[in-house]
Amino acid sequence: MQLFDLTGKVAVVTGGNGGIGLGMAIGMAEAGAAVVLAGRDVAKAETALAELAARGATARFIAADVTRGQACRDLVAETLAQFGRLDILVNNAGTSIRKMPQDYTEAEWHHVLDTNLTGAFLCSQAAYPAMKQAGGGKMINIGSMMSLFGAPYATPYAASKGGIVQMTRALATAWAKDHIQVNAVLPGWIDTELTRTARRQVDGLHERVETRTPAGRWGVPADLAGVAVFLAGKGSDFVTGTAIPVDGGFSIAT
Ligand code: NDP
Repeated sequence: MQLFDLTGKVAVVTGGNGGIGLGMAIGMAEAGAAVVLAGRDVAKAETALAELAARGATARFIAADVTRGQACRDLVAETLAQFGRLDILVNNAGTSIRKMPQDYTEAEWHHVLDTNLTGAFLCSQAAYPAMKQAGGGKMINIGSMMSLFGAPYATPYAASKGGIVQMTRALATAWAKDHIQVNAVLPGWIDTELTRTARRQVDGLHERVETRTPAGRWGVPADLAGVAVFLAGKGSDFVTGTAIPVDGGFSIAT
């Protein structure tokens, strides 16, 4: 269906070499997009590219550390050099350091904010001129349940993910006239490398998530594919500034 057809589109997914980013990249590739995976870990990227190739997708890896503005600008320039266009940007790269608030160093605070929030801003800023010139585009920012809730062990993470929602709204208002839609996705608890670490560090987390989630299970990266296709395609042309939970009902359950 044309509303969900991404044929001829080019998508950049930061942190697309694994986890949720790869789940979204696979979804968009299956809808017809060429995908650029951006990240730092080349070995992980090779595995991800093999998975995409096995599905017949057009995909490349471009090394980029999103905490550096120049790397974000180079990522966009390299995408334009290789594909001639950039239609979709997924700001998915993220990290967390779990500690009580009183125990963070200043460097740890900045590392989480720089990766999750500043990185998303820098990549959006880098992508804007190409999208404006092309007459439109789609930006998808990855928030979290921590965009909505607090947790004792996630102060910088929660600050960054709350910031993602407000940044999304600000960018959406700024760039709507350029036909660029900017939306956020708030994943629930998804089984990835990030949450495997969390489950090792936080006693009882695995069971608590299963019990509280109305769907009764953890999510998997493929659960994010559909929302990515929707927010990347024509079907969402009048949807902007939203923050859509994809969480099996976690955020509406008591
Ligand atoms: P992963 O750890 O599997 O993925 C994180 C990705 O971010 C990695 O591919 C990593 O690639 C990339 N990344 C980290 N730092 C940088 C950097 N400085 N520059 C470029 N890329 C970077 O975790 P998830 O898939 O779970 O997380 C993806 C996103 O989803 C994150 O924003 C996370 O906060 C969010 N999220 C996850 C949830 C979950 O339950 N899993 C729930 C809610 C939100 P590399 O190692 O190559 O740099």
